[in-house]
Amino acid sequence: MIIDGKVLSSEIRSDLKKEIESIKNKYNETPHLTVVLIGNDPASESYVKAKERACKQVGIKSTLITLPSTISLEELLKVIDELNKEKLVHGILVQLPLPSHISQDTVIDFMSQIKDVDGLHPHNISRLHTLRYSVLPCTPKGIITMLKSKDIQIEGKHAVVVGRSNLVGKPIAQLLLKENASVSITHRYTEDLASITKQADILVCAVGKAKFIAKDMVKKGAVCIDVGLSRVEGKLYGDFDFDNLLDHVSYISKAPGGVGPMTITSLLENTVECFLNQKKDIKL
Ligand code: NAP
Repeated sequence: MIIDGKVLSSEIRSDLKKEIESIKNKYNETPHLTVVLIGNDPASESYVKAKERACKQVGIKSTLITLPSTISLEELLKVIDELNKEKLVHGILVQLPLPSHISQDTVIDFMSQIKDVDGLHPHNISRLHTLRYSVLPCTPKGIITMLKSKDIQIEGKHAVVVGRSNLVGKPIAQLLLKENASVSITHRYTEDLASITKQADILVCAVGKAKFIAKDMVKKGAVCIDVGLSRVEGKLYGDFDFDNLLDHVSYISKAPGGVGPMTITSLLENTVECFLNQKKDIKL
């Protein structure tokens, strides 16, 4: 069974569009996301365009601020400071990665935690780790939504996460733990990776190497969630050897067309969530 992130996203977005319509009527205001793009990296530009298109699709107002790659940290923080204070901006997203002279951590730390639609502010991360309410990081949130959409049991299952980035690996491990899975996290230094991935009932891979997870690394009947994306000779591949795994697993997500669209859908949900938190004065 294939988990198609595009199909699931379009169902969720159509419900979200209705919700946003009624929110607009109730508050006489439109949820507003501001995206800050620094430099002109083609991949970042295309991600930002996809986010803008998705906002338009569901009725979220989006504004794009483009800044030159030569901008100083101080100048960038000034822009973010204004967005933090602007009452009519409900969500702020700084498109990553940033130019090497700008500290990603400093920028994320500086952003208002109540407008942190990416769920990456350390305050939100620490709330996630202590099981308090927080706005969830978009990619891991999208993955949990995918699993639940297929009624896949998480509780009691052994989930193995390959990759330990702050963006994906660590927060998805935390969310799976919150759903009562037993979680193993693996990385570049893991010895005999296959012996661990083979134990997984749910296997999430966020490495970014085409067809990195071969059939002999996966238990029969496992659920596979493919986060990684890499381009080989112009074609996009996920981390799983999809074609050879299709008959071997119980579920596998498409890549591309799986976690990617779900990440953007989570961003839309988070923008609405941040808007409502600000309207209801929910403190984080
Ligand atoms: P990242 O920060 O580069 O992390 C990659 C992780 O893979 C690291 O933790 C690294 O381990 C681990 N790794 C590398 N080689 C390995 C090996 N041989 N065995 C086991 N682990 C290994 O990347 P990321 O931001 O998490 O993203 C990962 C992939 O997901 C990328 O392809 C990215 O494009 C994709 N992605 C997709 C979406 C989406 O919406 N579809 C969202 C985010 C990311 P170490 O920590 O030990 O170096």
